[in-house]
Amino acid sequence: MRTFLAPVLLLAAVLAAAAQGAPGPGTPAGAAAPPPARPLTAAAADLGARLTWDPLTATGYLERNGHRAAFKLGVSPWILDGTELARLDPVELRDGSPTLTAAAAAALRSWFSRKEEEKASQFHVAAILIDPGHGGKDPGALADHVIGGARRRIVEKDLALTVGLRIRDRLKERWPTRTVLMTRETDVYPTLEDRVEIANSLELGKNDAVIYVSIHANASFNKNARGFEVWYLNPDYRRKLVDGSELPDSDKDIAPILNAMLEEEFTTESVLLAKRILDGMGTVVRDASPNRGLRAEEWFVVRNAKMPSVLVEVGFLTNPLDAALLAEADYLRSLADGIYTGIVDFVDYFENRKGPSSP
Ligand SMILES: [Zn+2]
Repeated sequence: MRTFLAPVLLLAAVLAAAAQGAPGPGTPAGAAAPPPARPLTAAAADLGARLTWDPLTATGYLERNGHRAAFKLGVSPWILDGTELARLDPVELRDGSPTLTAAAAAALRSWFSRKEEEKASQFHVAAILIDPGHGGKDPGALADHVIGGARRRIVEKDLALTVGLRIRDRLKERWPTRTVLMTRETDVYPTLEDRVEIANSLELGKNDAVIYVSIHANASFNKNARGFEVWYLNPDYRRKLVDGSELPDSDKDIAPILNAMLEEEFTTESVLLAKRILDGMGTVVRDASPNRGLRAEEWFVVRNAKMPSVLVEVGFLTNPLDAALLAEADYLRSLADGIYTGIVDFVDYFENRKGPSSP
């Protein structure tokens, strides 16, 4: 929001006014010695703040890294970031020039620093990693169906790639400068080394997070099983993946990535990401296919929020109804849009909080 300030002139105007040497009122005789004060221009330079001062309205502000402390000559309080009142020594004229007391300068210095630390501690999604399951020599699940009178083979690796690419494209379109990576962009099977390299290639700062979304399709011996679901990945689940033996056959390909994340604690962020993706899918799928909900072995409470990780199962290839949907390009596009919406909702939420676990 904007401050109360009337249109102001820039620092050049201050310097011009100072150069004119207009005499100021000075210190009245008999008054107590004023607190130590320095010319506002020098104090601003010390603070590393940009000074804007309008002699006509006797108002101005100091600005540093997007934070603004506004004042009116001779008036306390100041107004910080347009909303917060602060009882600081007022700016006073001495010898015709605005001055700032040492106490006010120190208070402003700590306020600017505090604001900058708050900003620095906010989490930021540095990258989104989309992992279309399987690929190349590994088709994942597959099933043959007669759809519209024609025999069709539905293959997990293909639809996972179609969905993954569209999610990637939409994310890039929304956030051109954000890093959006794919574990594969074609029909190839990324080796363990390839996948680990992708995960490790990200240079992360202290508050950087990476979102990992793996796209799969289900298969079941029960031909009636159908619907979509989202798994959030907790550490126990991940730990079992060290050798992949605990994974369903169709999902062994995610073991390397999950292993690369072993050092990360499970987080509520994974649950929240999973929930938003599920909601996003529910919005586009509606009653075309059942919502099977969130899946995990257990719910956990959390510490580390750096890699929210989910696995999306878009439907059952083994079910004729789901297979007919998954054979349609339009349906895959809708699914991708739903997942995309969930990711965007999550990122907006994640980046607009103070820290990893605040509500
Ligand atoms: Zn799979």
